[in-house]
Amino acid sequence: MHPFRPVAWITHPSCLRHAMGDDHPECPQRLQAIEDRLRGGGLLDFMLQFTAPAATVDQLLRVHDRAQIERILQADTSLGPVWHDPDTAQGPHTAEAALHAAGAGVKAVDLVLAEQAGLAFCSVRPPGHHAERDRAMGFCFFNNIAVAAAHALAQGLQRVAILDFDVHYGNGTANIFAGDLRVKLYSTYQHPLYPYWESLAEVDNLIDVALPPAAGSRDFRAAISEHCIGTMLEQRPEMILVSAGFDAHAEDPLGGLRLSYDDYSWIGAQIQQVAESCCPGRVVAMLEGGYSLHALARCVERFLQPFLSGDAIL
Ligand SMILES: [Zn+2]
Repeated sequence: MHPFRPVAWITHPSCLRHAMGDDHPECPQRLQAIEDRLRGGGLLDFMLQFTAPAATVDQLLRVHDRAQIERILQADTSLGPVWHDPDTAQGPHTAEAALHAAGAGVKAVDLVLAEQAGLAFCSVRPPGHHAERDRAMGFCFFNNIAVAAAHALAQGLQRVAILDFDVHYGNGTANIFAGDLRVKLYSTYQHPLYPYWESLAEVDNLIDVALPPAAGSRDFRAAISEHCIGTMLEQRPEMILVSAGFDAHAEDPLGGLRLSYDDYSWIGAQIQQVAESCCPGRVVAMLEGGYSLHALARCVERFLQPFLSGDAIL
C-alpha cells in the first residue's frame, strides 16, 4: 500500500465562459453544478485546488495537425459562432476555454508525476474525446485527454492507459492513438449511439466493449472486470488517464444506459486499485460528458470518494 496522496482539482474561469447557445446540453452550468455540489458537501476543502494553464501550441501539436489548431485559434467569431459541426459552435470565449481545458491535463500529469497528488481531476469544458487529429466535433475542440497522455509520454513514460467510460465512444482519442503501442485505450460505450463507432478489431491497442441500449450496472461492471482490469494489470501502465464522462448514468438525457450512482464510486475504486498496484497511484481524470445537471454533480462526487477516503468500495 502506498502512502495516501491528496486529490488535486484543476479548473479555469474561462471554462465557464464558453457557451454554445441557451438550449445546448454542453453548457456552463455543468461545471457550476459540480462545483456547487462539492463545495456544499465539503469535498472541495479536502482537495488541492489549481488553476489550469493554457496549453502551448507545441503541446497541442503532439496530437493535432497545425492546420486544425490554427482553425480554432484563428477563427473569427466577431459576426457570430463558427460551427465546426452541427453540434459544435465556437464563440468568442471558446478558444481560451479549449486551451485551458487542454492545459489542465498537462498540469494534472505534472502534478501526479511530481507526487503532489494521487488523482488529479480536471473539471473543465469543452470536453475533448471526440476531437480527432484534424477535426473538432461532438462538442469537442482539442482532445484534452490525448494532450495529457502525449504529455506523459513526452516526460518519458513508456506505457499509459486511457480508460473512457463516457456513454459515447471516444473516437478522437482512438483516431489519435490507434497503433501507438505505448498507449492502450479501454472503452465502454453504448452502441449504437453517436459517433456510431465501428470497432477496429485489427488495432490491438484499442479495447472496446460496446453495451446495448438500456444496459445497466451488471453489464457495465462485467465489461470493466472481464475486458479491462486484467489487461490493464498485464499492461502495467505507468499512469492511468480517465476520460470521465458521466452520461451513462440512468438520468442522462443524451445517453440510453442505466448506470447508478454506486457504479461511479465502484469504477473510481477499481481505477484506484489498479493504479496502486501498477503506477504508484497516478491517475489523471478529465471531465467529458454528463448532461443531467443533477446527476452529473452527484456522479462526480461519487467517483471522487474512493480517492479521497483511501478506502476500497466494493
Ligand atoms: Zn458523452
